[in-house]
Amino acid sequence: MTEEYHRVVIVGAGFAGVTAANELAAKGIDVLLIDRNNYHQFQPLIYQVATTQIAVTDVARPLRAMFRRTPSVCVKTAEITSIDPGERAVTTADGITYRGGFLILAAGSEANFFGIPGAAEHAFPLYSVDDAAKLRSRFLGALDAADRDEAYIDKGALNVVVVGAGPTGVETAGAVAESMRSAVPAYLSPALAASGRVYLADMLPSVLTPFSERSQRYAEAKLREAGVELRLDLGVTEVRKDGVTLSDGTEILSRTVVWAGGLKGSSLLSDTGLPLGKGGRVEVAPDLTVPGFEGVYALGDSANIPDSAGSPLPQLGSVA
Ligand SMILES: Cc1cc2nc3c(=O)[nH]c(=O)nc-3n(C[C@H](O)[C@H](O)[C@H](O)COP(=O)(O)OP(=O)(O)OC[C@H]3O[C@@H](n4cnc5c(N)ncnc54)[C@H](O)[C@@H]3O)c2cc1C
Repeated sequence: MTEEYHRVVIVGAGFAGVTAANELAAKGIDVLLIDRNNYHQFQPLIYQVATTQIAVTDVARPLRAMFRRTPSVCVKTAEITSIDPGERAVTTADGITYRGGFLILAAGSEANFFGIPGAAEHAFPLYSVDDAAKLRSRFLGALDAADRDEAYIDKGALNVVVVGAGPTGVETAGAVAESMRSAVPAYLSPALAASGRVYLADMLPSVLTPFSERSQRYAEAKLREAGVELRLDLGVTEVRKDGVTLSDGTEILSRTVVWAGGLKGSSLLSDTGLPLGKGGRVEVAPDLTVPGFEGVYALGDSANIPDSAGSPLPQLGSVA
């Protein structure tokens, strides 16, 4: 088995991992930065890649180019498959173990499907460039199908259902509605293009629940103006290849179901013995150390970072 040692090993090159690498490099510390992708992704604009508004290159920056002038940061592209926090070591899918004097876990979030039947199989989450490319391809593929054979329209080819009316769902539903207006007429006659529907569903009674009531009303009005149909106070009980079922029994036909229904900490963190709390994230002290695991830190979306009152900070780029 191959093993390599670095002063600091960082898992994940999102906002948290890249910032940590830069800060440590500025002090001349040897850092190994590992990510499954050879690029850093700018998550806040990923939904615009999915809805054909911007290119992948607008949200993905090559990691080696970012650290070209920083020799103390070594970048590796690898899928980490296990973490041994006691040994401050991680192992890749191809069996290489990287051990650190310190281990920083910054592997971000992943979609939480809450066990809803069919969601993991048929819905499209939106947390990576890869996710965005798959969703974009499905969206355009459905338009191509409708262009070849109008019968697909009756099967929901032009309908998009966004599940979850938090910030990601609201942004995505708005952007899909814009794309419906701008992209669809290039494929279909105005009459057929107008038959496409964008739905935004949430089990809660309003959009953007953590925000002020004024923001909620504003967002709802803007979404309706853009043509988004709100299905609030209704959970999604099943996702199928051809659509979704809502908790009142309504069925919506759609080939494109976007999952913005919730997040959890990276599944890489489970079964590691690390203390996991809300959302499967690592419970950390205010200095980001993990109690009971010397030399191990968890940052960004992977961690429940306490604010000054002890409540966990939200999963945001600014926090990461
Ligand atoms: C669509 C969307 C819109 C958003 N909009 C905003 C916004 O407007 N404002 C805001 O403040 N925040 C926003 N956020 C939240 C913000 O993007 C996240 O909080 C932030 O990216 C978290 O940073 P991170 O470094 O903790 O994790 P991430 O950015 O998720 O980085 C984690 C990295 O770990 C890598 N990784 C994971 N598992 C493995 C593995 N097994 N092996 C190797 N590498 C792995 C991933 O490839 C990824 O590069 C948005 C998020 C999304 C999804």
